[in-house]
Amino acid sequence: MTTLAGVCGWPVKHSLSPLIHGAWLQAAGVDGAYERFEVAPEDFAAFVAEARGRLAGVNVTVPHKEAALALADTVSPVARAAGAANVLTFRDGAIQADNTDGVGLLAALAEQAGFVPTNTTRAVILGAGGAARGAAAALLAAGASVVVANRTVERAEALASELAALGSIQGVGEADVSNADVIVNATTLGLGGGAGPAVDLAAPRADCVVMDMVYKPLRTEFLERARALGRPAVDGFAMLIGQAAPSFEAFYGQPPDPTVNVRDLALKALGETA
Ligand code: NAP
Repeated sequence: MTTLAGVCGWPVKHSLSPLIHGAWLQAAGVDGAYERFEVAPEDFAAFVAEARGRLAGVNVTVPHKEAALALADTVSPVARAAGAANVLTFRDGAIQADNTDGVGLLAALAEQAGFVPTNTTRAVILGAGGAARGAAAALLAAGASVVVANRTVERAEALASELAALGSIQGVGEADVSNADVIVNATTLGLGGGAGPAVDLAAPRADCVVMDMVYKPLRTEFLERARALGRPAVDGFAMLIGQAAPSFEAFYGQPPDPTVNVRDLALKALGETA
């Protein structure tokens, strides 16, 4: 029987997940399909109720990540910590929620900068939305101390107090990056082009890793500024692929073939080169 899964969002037509999962499915020779489900917020609960009997699971994107968590029967510790789910799997009628954004973030840092956070790592996360929350939870779980800097300081403070049980975290309005080992842009600044966060990237030490979650465009102004200073730069595309891999395994029962060059395929679809 064909195993069905997909991505659910509003809107979802620009999602690259069908391309990534489709390439992995083809390489694995799995009898499976991965579709787009465009679902309005008011219809999300009804969609999940219907999908749980028909699909192996769904990736969940904006604006459904919090609603997905609330609908689940079981929630992984990392999804609970992040306060959001980006993957729902349906097994024996039960809904399991997980969040693989943090796994994707750590995979991207390791792949493109050889960087593995430890308990001496000082991380600065710019932004306090859903993506920042997942990043903070993953970095704290790896032992790092985290500063979350956000335009709306109250949101950064709230995030920090909610995740305080996981480790050392502080919420601020403006980032001091002079001691940072890794800086992550988790704001929407730079999305679609234009300036990224106005952070002094010359301030930290030379090997401070700079990561941008934004991947449209791939070469963001923020990352280009980091590269011009000779800093290791990590793009959002590596994270996108990194978060997709555990979802694929959850849906289709096997990990994706690492030799499939989904990055090239997806970059072509975006009209970009690496
Ligand atoms: P979100 O919940 O809407 O949060 C947006 C964040 O950006 C907030 O902290 C917001 O600050 C900040 N922001 C927006 N406009 C700003 C401005 N003009 N100046 C300063 N800060 C501004 O979004 P999200 O879901 O966390 O996503 C954030 C980014 O990460 C998006 O670009 C998304 O595409 C990307 N992302 C990438 C991946 C990946 O796999 N690469 C995964 C998830 C997300 P306020 O709180 O002050 O409004």
